[in-house]
Amino acid sequence: INNIKDTCENTEEKLIQESNFSYLKEKYNYLKIIEVPYLSEPDADKIADIFAEDFDFIRSEKPEELFEEYDNKSLWHPYTSALDSSSKCFIDRTSGNYIYNKNKPLLDGMSSWWCAVHGYNNEKIKKAAVRQLNKMPHVMFGGITHSPALKLADVLLKILPKGLSRIFYADSGSVSVEVALKMAVQYWQGKKRPEKNRIMTVRGGYHGDTFGAMAVCDPENGMHHMFTGLMPSHIFAEKPGAEFGRPFKESSLDNIKLLLEQNHEKTAAFIIEPIVQGAGGMWFYHPEYLKQLRKLCDEYQVLLICDEIATGFGRTGKLFACEWAEITPDILCIGKAVTGGTLSFAAACATRKVAEGISENGGVLMHGPTFMGNPLACTIALESIEILLNSQWERNVLEIENSLRKGLEPCREFSSVKDIRVLGAIGVVEIDEDIDQNACRDFFVENGVWIRPFRNLVYVMPPYTIKPEETDRLTSAIYKLIKSSSYKKAFKA
Ligand code: PMP
Repeated sequence: INNIKDTCENTEEKLIQESNFSYLKEKYNYLKIIEVPYLSEPDADKIADIFAEDFDFIRSEKPEELFEEYDNKSLWHPYTSALDSSSKCFIDRTSGNYIYNKNKPLLDGMSSWWCAVHGYNNEKIKKAAVRQLNKMPHVMFGGITHSPALKLADVLLKILPKGLSRIFYADSGSVSVEVALKMAVQYWQGKKRPEKNRIMTVRGGYHGDTFGAMAVCDPENGMHHMFTGLMPSHIFAEKPGAEFGRPFKESSLDNIKLLLEQNHEKTAAFIIEPIVQGAGGMWFYHPEYLKQLRKLCDEYQVLLICDEIATGFGRTGKLFACEWAEITPDILCIGKAVTGGTLSFAAACATRKVAEGISENGGVLMHGPTFMGNPLACTIALESIEILLNSQWERNVLEIENSLRKGLEPCREFSSVKDIRVLGAIGVVEIDEDIDQNACRDFFVENGVWIRPFRNLVYVMPPYTIKPEETDRLTSAIYKLIKSSSYKKAFKA
């Protein structure tokens, strides 16, 4: 569209142009329509220069079926077979609380797997990223330091649970878990107790997909059976039985006590997701459980690692889920929302005791990712945390919690619903059978929302910027899905 809007005097002409534009947009929503500034002599090359990005996109655009075919033969998606030929939802842009499927806005209920807490394309983050990109996108961290890394550490140490005093930057959540595990094992080596090299954890946990992290994921839901013999065998206690919001029973830690009693001499650390077990089953447990676990770890001289990769930065209603139990772990991992979902970035944060224990006898922490402390990621993280702290995130998360609870409770009327759990900006509906992901995806996309269930869990964790009426749209879509049984594997047949 050669935009004459700003130059033409004639109001009627202006109106015609405006309505033509909306008409085209509406009728041919599969076309990419670009507004160009007025040019007295429209010239395709000139226009192409001005909109190089858009034109490149157009030039390379293929019909949808070709994209799908190319995707199926050339890409590999998370947790899928290379022979999986199910169609993917093509997303070409994001904005605010929406991701766009060929101009169709889908309200995002997933925050791109917990991370896009401010919604997408936040202006402040974009500006900060561009400033840093122009100045120094990356520089190695070995023997070098820089102000984005220093400033971020300074902010993190002010907001993390008290007592954590060393930040080791990593490039993804799983890597930060690897680092945390190494820290624990190296700590006991430093203390001349190298036999303390096993890790204890609870069933139902999830800590990432790299080998060290996989070894502490749930032994049944996780990938243990695929790599038997390749992964260290660790010690698994029962899944935390004490449910959040229900009366706490001291006996819920009996199994851990027993295992610590039997294994503390060879156990370096206990790793756990504080309060919310995420990808292992979306289970919320009692803060007192975590408090007691902290005490037991101290009593048995076992380090406590809290994996806040999913829960950190406000998701559960506290800035860090450890705050529910008012504890500080010896090592804490952060990731996901640390950059507001803009770039992959993470950190393993340690107390002085751990840092000195590893280092005091000449020990060095044996890890150093190439992109460690990436200045661009640090800058984005810094901006994202500032946006979060300057927002009314606590009020927003509480408001989301209330809307989710109100919107999901009616699902209890269906006999197929086993449980409904809501905490902070996380809402979960547990169904009595595994669901068909593709059928669910099609249903949700048709209903204008993006929700991606797994196993028998339909869950949402929207951006904190979501409005109450938008949260209602998410919960209504879930209600409708269950009511119509569209999640069933046989539904399509
Ligand atoms: N720990 C927890 C609790 C997680 O939820 C995840 C990711 N879902 C990870 C670790 C791994 O993080 P990443 O995917 O960034 O490697």
